[in-house]
This record gives sequence, C-alpha cells and structure tokens, in this order.
Amino acid sequence: MTLYTKANIKEDKPLEHCAVFGVACDDVGYSIAKYLYLGLIAQQHRGQESTGISILNIGGKIFTYKRKGLVSKVLNDKILSKFWGNVGIGHNRYATTGSQEYNSQDYMQPFHLKNNNMEFSLAFNGTIPNYADLKQRLEDMGRVFTTNTDTEVIARFIASLAIGTDDWPEILRMASKFMDGSYSLIILTSEGDIYAMRDPLGFKPLCIGELKTDKRNLYFVSSESCGLDTVGAKFLRDVEPGEIVHLSHQKDIHTEMIIKAERTALCQFEFVYFARPDSIIDGVSVAEARTRLGELLAINDPLLKDPNFRKDAIVVPVPDSGRGVAVGYANEAKLHYIEGLMKNRYVWRTFIMPGQKKRESAVKEKLNPVKSFITGKNVIILDDSIVRGTTTAQIINLIREAGAKSVNVRISCPPVIRPCYMGIDFPTTSELIAGRYKELYGENFIEEIRKKIGADTLQYQKIEDLMKAISKNENELCLACLTGKYPLKSVEKIIELEKSIITDRQS
Ligand code: SF4
Repeated sequence: MTLYTKANIKEDKPLEHCAVFGVACDDVGYSIAKYLYLGLIAQQHRGQESTGISILNIGGKIFTYKRKGLVSKVLNDKILSKFWGNVGIGHNRYATTGSQEYNSQDYMQPFHLKNNNMEFSLAFNGTIPNYADLKQRLEDMGRVFTTNTDTEVIARFIASLAIGTDDWPEILRMASKFMDGSYSLIILTSEGDIYAMRDPLGFKPLCIGELKTDKRNLYFVSSESCGLDTVGAKFLRDVEPGEIVHLSHQKDIHTEMIIKAERTALCQFEFVYFARPDSIIDGVSVAEARTRLGELLAINDPLLKDPNFRKDAIVVPVPDSGRGVAVGYANEAKLHYIEGLMKNRYVWRTFIMPGQKKRESAVKEKLNPVKSFITGKNVIILDDSIVRGTTTAQIINLIREAGAKSVNVRISCPPVIRPCYMGIDFPTTSELIAGRYKELYGENFIEEIRKKIGADTLQYQKIEDLMKAISKNENELCLACLTGKYPLKSVEKIIELEKSIITDRQS
C-alpha cells in the first residue's frame, strides 16, 4: 500500500511497504489465529507500523482487527483468543510518520469491504501508480472513498467487477488488466476461500506452502518463505508472476495463470536489503545472493592487491544490513571480518526525529564503533545501499573519530539514481545523492559522492555483478531505480507522480 504524501520522507534507507500472510484449514472446528500471528511476526521486517487480521468464523462472518503497532503488541494472547475461525489473512504495514489521518484504522490492512452485494477482505503489498485513474473511474460511477490509498481503490475496483458474479478468478483476471503496477495481494471471501494473486511482472515475492497432519490439512500463502518456515509448513513453490492461487478449506490448492508476461521484474532490492536472509525468492536464497554480492565486490576491489593496505585491513559490516555481504567480501578477500560497529537494538526508528540535524544525531544513538578494533586499521565498511548519503557520512565520521587509518566504503547495490514507484519508499531523484550527483557531475559522480561522504575510497557494485549474484538477468529483475527504465506501461504516470510528490513536499 502506498500513501503518496510528504509523510513519506524519513529514514536514509529504502522502506519496504508490507507483508501478507494467509491460512486455510480443512478442519472447521480449528482456529488458525495463532498461525496468522506466527506468519506475520516472521515478516515483521517488511512493516512495523500496523498489524491486522481478518478471520472467517464458523457462522460465515468475516471479523477484522487491526491496530497500530508491532505484531506482538497488536495480536496479544487476549486478542487472539477472541478470534476463532479456520480461514484468515493478515497484514503488516510499513512504517510511516504522518498525521493522525494516516494512523487511523481506515488506512491499515486488511481492507474489509462489505456492502449489500458482497463482503471480502483484502491485504496488499505493492503499488498501483495508475490508481488515480481507477479512482476517478469509480468516482464517476458514484463510489465514495474513505481513504487516499491504492488499497481502497483496488478493493472498490474489485467489488465493482464482482457485481452479479462470484467467479473470483475471472474477477481478478479482469482487475489485473487495469492494474499497472506491483502487487502481491490476498483476498478472503465470505465463502471461506483465499485468492492470492501476483502481478504479471512479479515485482513482489509471494509463495505457498502446506502443513498436513493426521487431523487436518493447512494451506498457506506468504510474502516470504520465512513465514512458512515459522509455522512449520512445507514450502511448495513461489506463486508465479501473473498467477492466481486459490486456497480453500474444502479442497487442495488450485492455481490458474491469468497473464503470462514476456518478462518478469522481481525487485532486486529484495536480495540486497528487504527480504530476510533465510527466505528463498523465485528459487534464489537471499542469504546466498548477499554472500555472492560481497564476493563480487572483493573480486573487483583494486585495494586488495596492495599488500601495505591489506596488512592493516579489516572488514566491518554496517549492522544489520551489511552483515551478509561483509561475510562474502571477507571470505573472498581473506581478511578478518570484525563486528566493529555496535548497534543499539532498542533505537531502530531514526525517522521519528524530523530534520537533518536530528537524523544525524540519531545515527550516534544507534551505532557506536569498537575503538580497540578500529584504531590504526584500514577499515572496509560494507553496507547495502546509499540513499541520501547522510547516514553513510555519519558512519564514516564515527569510524574516523575512533582512530581508523582509512575508511573505505563498499556498497552491495549499484548507485540508486531514480525513485521507486513499485511500492518501495524512496525519496525523489533530487533527494537521492547518486541521482542528484549523476545529473550534476555526469561520469564523475561516484568520485564526487566519495568526497561528499568523506570516504577514502568508495566502490559500488556493478549492475552486471548484481545480476550475477542473484542469478537472474535484466529480463527477470526490476532494476529501475538503478537504470531509470521502468518496466511498466504507464511511465508517464510515474513522471506525473514524481512531480506531484515534489509539489506536495514543498507545500
Ligand atoms: S525500482 Fe528498485 S526498489 Fe523499486 S521495484 Fe524496482 S528494483 Fe525494487
């Protein structure tokens, strides 16, 4: 779900938007509430702002409960004990600051739609850049909206297609023709079915699993496979891009391909940063991809050929996101991997403090160098990405103050030069240090970034090595934030969108 507001200006990292999880059990006397809890808590990293569940009870009614906060707080024992049903879906929403309006339950998911004709609940991960067009169409038809989200637009659009029919695969096939964007969505119907759909380009991960016991069979759908592992389910497979999967409490999983695209566009950032390392996405282990990213950075690193440099060199990850890549780099370079930056795990949301100065001081609250490891060393810092550059500059400063001989930054993602409009919260081009510097300095922009952040050396991953590490090519991955080539039809909408965000942020 995306809110295109100035509330989206925050941490110096791209932010994932959501996680979805669904369960259908063939034992109507069994409650799946605890499975929703486990599946959502395993995917807390994909969204920390709010948690919600919808469960269908024995009487055929959908109950939805959603609140601001982490899964463990929202779905406590008392709440879970009140929910009894054998089919349900859940959602974690990503973190936003912002006005009270955006913190209202209307903006949380699942989005529960009930009218005279139908009832269903929808949970969604992604973004539909052309949602304003769809919204206008629906408003012209007399539909009234209570939020400014693409989630509600999708829900009301689906409801408009469902008038007079309960053929859900056909409804979703029709909906997908108009939704040009990224979406992994799940729907709980009042008949007790779950439909899961992944967009034809497969931007967002989505997978299915099963758990069969002597007493009952359970079927699951999850954004990431770590959700399946946590509930003890067997991973069956990824939902294919353009596929609808039907999970029913009455029969096994049924699937249907709705649109087969010529290419796919899985978000490369899932491997670089978002996904949990223990997840496997479209056949690729996230942990292994991160290790390879580190190995490739080391293979291409000219500094490692200098014996004088190597003699005092240590490899330090930026916790937690730089760890996997630092392990790969250190192994390949045959250098010591040192936890030279300690993270205060209780300070995890720097974005709550508005303004540049406070953001910078927040880095100090969060990270502290281990001086005895750092002093006199050539420190090679590994991190996943540089967005605005402010946090990286602060980290370099901390390491220098701790007595490092030199500070050398290695980034597992190539320069991020353009915003994302497929569901990831990035700043606009001018707020991205690589985007702005590329426009200003052309070919020399990386050297200028190095000077700006105060590193002795700076090396980014090459795009071809990123693809090599993920074992996927440019027709299988989205690389739009690195290349500016958006794999959507409505590119002009994207440009309009960026302009409107800039205007909104300036107002
Ligand atoms: S633009 Fe970047 S962050 Fe957005 S989906 Fe594509 S690869 Fe992922």
